[in-house]
Amino acid sequence: MKNVADFNFAGKKVLIRVDFNVPLNDTFAITDDTRMRAAIPTIRKILNDRGACILMSHLGRPKEGPTEKYSLKHLVAHLSHLLGGISVKFASDCMGETAQKAATDLQQGEVLLLENLRFYKQEEKGDPAFAQELAKLGDFYVNDAFGTAHRAHASTAIIADYFAGKKCFGFVMSGELNSIDKVLNNAARPFTAIMGGAKVSDKILILEQLMKKADHIIIGGGMAFTFIKAMGGTIGKSLFEEDRIPNALNILETAKKLGVQIHLPVDAVCADNFANDANIQTCATHAIPDGWMGLDVGPETAKQYAAVIAQSKTILWNGPMGVFEMSNFEHGTKSAAEAVVAATQNGAYSLIGGGDSVAAVNKYGFSEQVSYVSTGGGALLEYIEAGSLPGVDAVNNNPATH
Ligand code: AMP
Repeated sequence: MKNVADFNFAGKKVLIRVDFNVPLNDTFAITDDTRMRAAIPTIRKILNDRGACILMSHLGRPKEGPTEKYSLKHLVAHLSHLLGGISVKFASDCMGETAQKAATDLQQGEVLLLENLRFYKQEEKGDPAFAQELAKLGDFYVNDAFGTAHRAHASTAIIADYFAGKKCFGFVMSGELNSIDKVLNNAARPFTAIMGGAKVSDKILILEQLMKKADHIIIGGGMAFTFIKAMGGTIGKSLFEEDRIPNALNILETAKKLGVQIHLPVDAVCADNFANDANIQTCATHAIPDGWMGLDVGPETAKQYAAVIAQSKTILWNGPMGVFEMSNFEHGTKSAAEAVVAATQNGAYSLIGGGDSVAAVNKYGFSEQVSYVSTGGGALLEYIEAGSLPGVDAVNNNPATH
């Protein structure tokens, strides 16, 4: 898989789909610039080659055309700062004469940011005419927006059709794809998938795919209780999805056939209320009293899970082990995070993906101590489910070779 490092962009106007969907506060200040910082190496590489960068992104979910709140103009000054103070030009429209003129006037070594793509409905509809119009702005296409690669939008996928032989991935995309490949296709064994979070229904397809790949699947979080109940346990008022009982039973049976070990919590930290100051007791997961709910895996489970993680050589983690946002129910998640860090220090490859497990790893300050933290939770999970993504396929279909 080639990326921007494999090409020389001298004299080229490179149209880059970045993910600048950053959170802004009420005065339009950026409150977390992680996504912008992630795109800098790709932009720098092209500028160092003496190419020009035309950046396109969406920001937020504007409903009806141009909206001040969602204007990418709020990002210009900070982008300039991240690029060491070079001036960043801004086109107040990503279409029409404004965009065309700004792109035509752009000189080598310069950066142009286009206004929010989602000010046009055609973007999310994947409209070919809109994509073709965008494509006219540059002579090479780079996709570096992993966070939106699971969408077949005009700028993330459809546009690539107009760049046959003139497209490749940026560093963010190739980093993510290499990491997924390492876990799904070239895993050192044992491979352990840690699955948590609230609902089984969100994770069924992923569990089905991971069973074909993993040696161990650790299940925690609210989703564990549907499994416990399916096996005949009493779970009090813990999270439960009755309609998912057949799925849970099917997963347990298939795992047995495939020789995959599924690990379910044996004990849980239970509360009489969904609150940090609720009354708390540790219960066996199959015997939770009426009126109580499991909000974290218990200490015995945490110990067992840490032991499985310790002997793993590849780890994929999605979803917290409990309600880690509340201090009384964070121990299971923190313990799993510590075990992942220790395994990584022992040579395991660890990929953390999916919003809340990333939030957990960040909360405990471990993001630099795991192998890879995915920037696109939704995209990562969809990749695991489907085995490909529209934004990835679009670049791989007739990519640049020299
Ligand atoms: P997800 O987005 O599916 O990964 O779910 C993450 C959310 O699940 C977090 O906000 C957790 O607080 C919540 N969660 C984890 N374990 C439990 C539990 N045992 N009961 C209720 N919510 C939970």
